Amino acid sequence: MIFASDHFAAGVPAHPQVDAGPSGMDTPHMPKSQLSAPAAKAPTAIGGGATIVDLRFQGHASIIGVCVLELEGGIALVDPGPEARLGELTEGLARIGRTLEDVRAVLLTHIHLDHATAAGAIAARSPGARVYVHGVGAPHMADPTRLLASAERIYGDRMATLWGRFVPVPAEQLRIVDDDDVVELGGRSLEVAYLPGHASHHVAYYEGATGTAWVGDVGGIRIGGGPPLPVTPPPDIDVELWRDSIARVMAWSPDRIVPTHFGVYTDRASHFGELEEALLDWSEWVRGSLADANGKSDRELRGDFARWVEDGLSERLSSELTERYATASGFPDSWSGLARYWRKRGKG
Ligand SMILES: [Zn+2]
Repeated sequence: MIFASDHFAAGVPAHPQVDAGPSGMDTPHMPKSQLSAPAAKAPTAIGGGATIVDLRFQGHASIIGVCVLELEGGIALVDPGPEARLGELTEGLARIGRTLEDVRAVLLTHIHLDHATAAGAIAARSPGARVYVHGVGAPHMADPTRLLASAERIYGDRMATLWGRFVPVPAEQLRIVDDDDVVELGGRSLEVAYLPGHASHHVAYYEGATGTAWVGDVGGIRIGGGPPLPVTPPPDIDVELWRDSIARVMAWSPDRIVPTHFGVYTDRASHFGELEEALLDWSEWVRGSLADANGKSDRELRGDFARWVEDGLSERLSSELTERYATASGFPDSWSGLARYWRKRGKG
């Protein structure tokens, strides 16, 4: 097994980003309180033996969705989310007559903290469960020490509240998926594609029988009737690779796509078209900000970028929905991810 790659050395593979570090003076993106948390919503059956449980991350609806797949003899979970929201997941499963002990498989699209920290806790509750993950992510699921050390530098004492405990997944419960693998699970058959661009450890799963592609963050963020937007945290962002990954999803011609953030969409061409356009816009904005920084610090540029994105959103969306996008994404960190991408290419 490959040990911790250097993908995590320079940045924190986690979003939503929270500016809680020592220089945490940027635009605050965490909700002021959870008093306005909506009432628990019943899980949404999406057909094809699948249901989405809303984890109500930070008290907000439709930010992180766990997709539950019915299997012969149990269930699979695509992206179980943060361990801190295991209570919501358990409650959602109960509403469809399931428990964590029914879990036979956890299918990770990638190992960012908002997608993956619950995997180990679920593996402990259901020793028969297998956790499927990209080869680059697998060592970190078995031993999250390095991942947690870098995340703790950013999140500090908010680690527990946001992400919960990152319990290691026992090696015997880990299953590394390779590009083009087919995962057979209780009567269902899922194709795997390695899809870098958002993260080096990102995969998507496609089920031909239901025409469904679980696209994780390669599908960006699209919530509450708003537009698809990219999310570009450090350290792996690569615009060209992301565009190739989108082309690869499109080549499946899925009838529907399921991004983790959030829901199920049947308009794949317009979804990915808008997403790609926004990704290119963001990338150009960040390149321009590096070229014409006029002495501004990265911190200032991060704040400028967040305001630019939020101003654009608030022209089209309510302030409540704009805040939900900000919570799901962490716009200042998206500047950092794209700045790193450009700096690797010698720009800025
Ligand atoms: Zn991610």
